[in-house]
Amino acid sequence: MKYISTRGGVEPLSFQQVVLMGLADDGGLLIPESIPDARDRLQSWRKLDYLQLAQEVFSLFATDIPTDVMRSLIERSYRGTFHPEVAPTVRVGDLFILELFHGPTLSFKDVALQFLGNLYEHILGQTGGHLNILGATSGDTGSAAIYGVRGRAGINIFVMHPHKRVSEIQERQMTSVLDANVHNIAVRGSFDDCQRIMKSLASDLDFKRRHSIGSVNSINFARILAQIVYYFYSAFHVQRITGTTQTRVCVPTGNFGDILAGWYAGRMGLNLSQMILATNENDILARFFNTGVYSRGTVAQTYSPAMDIQVSSNFERYLYHRVGSDPKRLRLLMEGFASTGSLKLDLREGEVVDSQMVSKSATNAETLETIAKYYRDYGYVLDPHTAVGVHVAEDFGLEGDPLVCVSTAHPAKFPEAIREATGESVARHPDIDALAGLPTRCEILDNDSGAVRAFIEKTLSA
Ligand SMILES: *Cc1c(COP(=O)(O)O)cnc(C)c1O
Repeated sequence: MKYISTRGGVEPLSFQQVVLMGLADDGGLLIPESIPDARDRLQSWRKLDYLQLAQEVFSLFATDIPTDVMRSLIERSYRGTFHPEVAPTVRVGDLFILELFHGPTLSFKDVALQFLGNLYEHILGQTGGHLNILGATSGDTGSAAIYGVRGRAGINIFVMHPHKRVSEIQERQMTSVLDANVHNIAVRGSFDDCQRIMKSLASDLDFKRRHSIGSVNSINFARILAQIVYYFYSAFHVQRITGTTQTRVCVPTGNFGDILAGWYAGRMGLNLSQMILATNENDILARFFNTGVYSRGTVAQTYSPAMDIQVSSNFERYLYHRVGSDPKRLRLLMEGFASTGSLKLDLREGEVVDSQMVSKSATNAETLETIAKYYRDYGYVLDPHTAVGVHVAEDFGLEGDPLVCVSTAHPAKFPEAIREATGESVARHPDIDALAGLPTRCEILDNDSGAVRAFIEKTLSA
């Protein structure tokens, strides 16, 4: 399998090259040259456990990693660090919840970042090189990435988060990791500012090469790949217990990484009759899927901070396919968006953006009401991101094919919202309790890529 850039300016790459490159050198995103068709394998895949299924899915995309090496990477990523099933699906009321929060930092990001950490170590072990990872986080990627690479030889990690705009627990999960290779940066700005700084440093090819800069953000295709597995796994589970052949899925969305993995699973042949994209009040993606216009607004702070995003970094991968896999058209649209803050698909009369994808947003009040309702009716505590998804899913209606709502975080990461919604402190987890009082380390910097660059250079020369 070879990989290309959405903007057409990169020679075909191998999977391992893609993992190291992160953002494509031409400013685009790296994608597989073609999406593998797995339809004739689905019957045999149904019988597999999570680790075996991961092996099957990964082997279609990472064709330059030998089977036994891949098996060991998967074992090290998932065995012991997660729930025995990795990603269990439970029934709650009239829907199914795919619980992706059973990893070390209690968000779905662990599923991809535990794997990426092992992958980096394997690749560097072969080349003898080193890597400086640069990441931006709205809260959950940072800790998951830090836990994925802490203490690993040959790797430094620099993670930017928006100063005072992540929850106290999220901040503590990151800044209490004191390994010498972990560097937290609080930027005086928003998450979009952090992403902009990251993109500007990652597109400075001289800086990128000089310091071997890699990415843990979902612009890294390995993250999308790791997430494809649980869409198959959960749909097989639900189809087995309901006797149906089609499933719907609802995904709370920010950077479009998680739902993109589901979309890939569908293109590979998984029978998803509908994908529901749920946003919070930052609804740029909902507006796009309903009107064909993708236009940037201002970022609102909500109870689901990991989705407080206006510009979704993975959207470009989807848009590439939507405009007929045409890098020239894609480049024109993205350049127009960069200069005007808006882009528009030319839809014919009655045409929709995507017949499989529907989308709505949930307000803050609806998010809290949904948490309260599920606690009251089922004794199940939804985290605020998951609650956004569940609200939107209910809005579209629970009749029809069985519906899986993707649960992206453990509620204990967001105790204030849970307390506000339920009036009780019902969101606890021993790993979170253990963070209290730990020493922390973090550098606070201005909202300026020059300041971040200088800090990285100073740290690396020390
Ligand atoms: C990152 C995150 C999301 C959004 O996922 P994307 O892949 O960015 O769309 C949703 N919920 C939680 C808890 C997250 O950490």
